[in-house]
Amino acid sequence: MKDHLVRILSKDGSLRAMAAVTTGLTETVRRKQGTDPTATVALGRLLAGAALMGSLLKGDQRLALMIEGGGPLQRLHAETDAHGHLRASLKNPVADLPPKDGRFDVAGAIGRAGFLHVIKDLGLKDPYRGMVQLYTSEVAEDLAYYLTTSEQVPSTVALGVSLETDGRIGASGGFMVQAMPGCDEALLPLLELRLQGLPPTTTLLQQGQTPTAILEQLFEGIPFTVQGEIDLDFRCGCNRPQIEAVLKGVGQDELQEMIEKDNGAAVTCEYCKEQYLFSGEELEAMKPNA
Ligand code: ZN
Repeated sequence: MKDHLVRILSKDGSLRAMAAVTTGLTETVRRKQGTDPTATVALGRLLAGAALMGSLLKGDQRLALMIEGGGPLQRLHAETDAHGHLRASLKNPVADLPPKDGRFDVAGAIGRAGFLHVIKDLGLKDPYRGMVQLYTSEVAEDLAYYLTTSEQVPSTVALGVSLETDGRIGASGGFMVQAMPGCDEALLPLLELRLQGLPPTTTLLQQGQTPTAILEQLFEGIPFTVQGEIDLDFRCGCNRPQIEAVLKGVGQDELQEMIEKDNGAAVTCEYCKEQYLFSGEELEAMKPNA
């Protein structure tokens, strides 16, 4: 199944939901980042969360999720735009933690204490920045907690990543349900019950269920319309001018050191791992008073 996302709205406008399959994307990110299994699951969940939240972006808008925690992974990033392009990275790709209660110890890898940052570039002068303390450090609950408390949109988020025995991604994806203002109070407990009754997201995806089929089960008896369907792809979007700008930002002394030591610099993009090479002459020209 090609990675994609489906977004629906109940006919009365009171409930919104999205579901995504991100198996291919997560495998691409796993290979680029060289993550161990626990790190793969943690980053894969954040990536699926970014895909779901990104489905509300328009035009040139962008969304970034960052988790900073006290665990071995230290810092995780996932970014997306309105066109279903995603990328992700993390500070330390190796959690090196044993399973806990038979599951990957994602909360341990992220760390129980820390913050979730949400940065939205909505094309305004300054990006919107939201932040909450980590709630469970399992990612889905942290995103739901952020959406419910910080954005005041009551939300339920389910994210899943399952691995094959060789570490490759078996299935990855998730879904999210949001109550809009004026939502019928009776609907929420009904949906909660249905959510609890559903098998884990990865089981549904591995059974070959599409995002549409998952949403149909959730919304059985609740009339809805499909608001959008979009393919999801890995795309970094980094380029030489961007990397140059970063290099210029390191300052005169550090540039001089790179020139003297290596007569150039090799800068690797943290997301796609592409390497950009700069000669000593190019570095010379970047000096502020060159
Ligand atoms: Zn890149």
